[in-house]
Amino acid sequence: MLRVSIDPIHETYHYDIQHIIKLFAEKAEIHFYDEADSLGSYDSHEALPPDHSALSRRDGKTDRPEGRESTPPGMEWKLSFSFRREEKEVHVVARLTDPMGKEARGEAIRPLQDEKRAVGFALLRALTSYTGIVQPWGILVGVRPLKLYHKMLEKGMKKKDIHEKLISEYGLLPEKVREMERIADRQLQVLPDLYHLSGEVSLYIGIPFCPTKCAYCTFPAYALQGKQGSVDAFLAALLEEIKVMGTWLTERKIPVTTLYVGGGTPTSLSADELDLLLSTLAEVLPCREKLKELTVEAGRPDTITPEKIEVMKRWRVDRISINPQTFTQATLKAIGRHHTVEETLSAYRLARSMGMGNINMDLIIGLPGEGMAEYQKSLLHIEELMPDSLTVHTLSFKSASTMTQKREKYSVASAEEVSRMIRYTEEWTERHGYHPYYLYRQKNILGNQENVGYALPGKESLYNILIMEERQTIIGLGCGASSKIISPTSGRIFRFANPKEPKVYVEHYRDYLEKKIALLEEIYSQDEKESLTFPKK
Ligand code: SF4
Repeated sequence: MLRVSIDPIHETYHYDIQHIIKLFAEKAEIHFYDEADSLGSYDSHEALPPDHSALSRRDGKTDRPEGRESTPPGMEWKLSFSFRREEKEVHVVARLTDPMGKEARGEAIRPLQDEKRAVGFALLRALTSYTGIVQPWGILVGVRPLKLYHKMLEKGMKKKDIHEKLISEYGLLPEKVREMERIADRQLQVLPDLYHLSGEVSLYIGIPFCPTKCAYCTFPAYALQGKQGSVDAFLAALLEEIKVMGTWLTERKIPVTTLYVGGGTPTSLSADELDLLLSTLAEVLPCREKLKELTVEAGRPDTITPEKIEVMKRWRVDRISINPQTFTQATLKAIGRHHTVEETLSAYRLARSMGMGNINMDLIIGLPGEGMAEYQKSLLHIEELMPDSLTVHTLSFKSASTMTQKREKYSVASAEEVSRMIRYTEEWTERHGYHPYYLYRQKNILGNQENVGYALPGKESLYNILIMEERQTIIGLGCGASSKIISPTSGRIFRFANPKEPKVYVEHYRDYLEKKIALLEEIYSQDEKESLTFPKK
């Protein structure tokens, strides 16, 4: 285990420092000394295994660039920061030393109010210089990098100044900045009113069932077999929640921009159950004519039948997702998806032949045992089908997933190979007419990369843009559904999560619903009061 000991520094910086160190050494044990600590109380010569490279690789090597020394057992990095504050600027220097006397240094000069960013940047520089590892997203640690880009645009910054700032002050690679520029442009083309949608809301409906559980999954997804009783009880509770919320929205005359039925796999429900759900939504939602998009996740191909597609057509579902993740059968088995490649192909062809006009497919880069060859094979299948949109995820090790708990069982591609696959995706999508339109990042994502949604022009998912850019309230109904309530006047975000487990949801949904409505009332009434005295943004 690598240990990183950090000399006293104000705790405001701890979170970002930890996050940046973990990008370079995921399992590092990080210790912040405070002034009271007696330095040297830790035995740095403990025999511990190296942890320079966070992941096991299929070829048994590490992700360290060629020619770099390995990190010996019992390694400790000592890290210290020094600050020189002048009238308007702060100069931060980060120094890293190891027991063999190897040193690295990084520095940053920023305006006084940006001291936190200066600390992050100096640290990034020192770690890059020590390890040789380049972080594509620099010091950006959040899930939604595009939010920062939009904020700068809204402030009136010129695109070329944003470009320069993201590289020089946040440490992003130019190709990542170009990716952000393309995506922001696309989002504003697709949703020209993106900055002015706070008077409407979107809805998310969580259906917590799937045929089986995938090894990398942490969504609320419970295997369905033999659980009809719990499906009935869940559906009854969900329909009540939908009706109560529909009434609240109607009374308030708040239109719904987009509606997303996800989970889980909503098409795990029977055709009759799906019909009941979609008809209830159509009946109780206000201003149905203003709804811009209705999506149903049909993620698992083995749940799709002609009857269910018929139901979705009847209720004017605009967009569905049929997710192969990979077209390599052995991988599907290894990750616990009990369907065949052939089932994916026939489900897609069935949906197309029945007139579904907007179909998304998801692929995952870096699934266990997969490299460029398997990924290229998947893209050949995608080329044959040409779905309307393609969402390319990079595998992430989420702490609650089976894959993370049994991590030693799964070997994955190196950071370099992941980065090659990402570049290949960019070229491939461009050649085939797809444009990137939304992007998000996750913790413990391979190679510290990202997930990107690509679409043919006009086929972008509006819901995906809205949820990523946090520009309007999204009300979550059903199991594990999170509500993100954004004050239309102040822009402050309030979160509220429904229970993840169907049993807990069924027992307590009324309490949760009551609290959620109370929170909405409070935020929207406050906004009304505020809007009497303050102009709306
Ligand atoms: S299909 Fe999706 S929601 Fe269901 S178990 Fe797999 S990853 Fe999770």
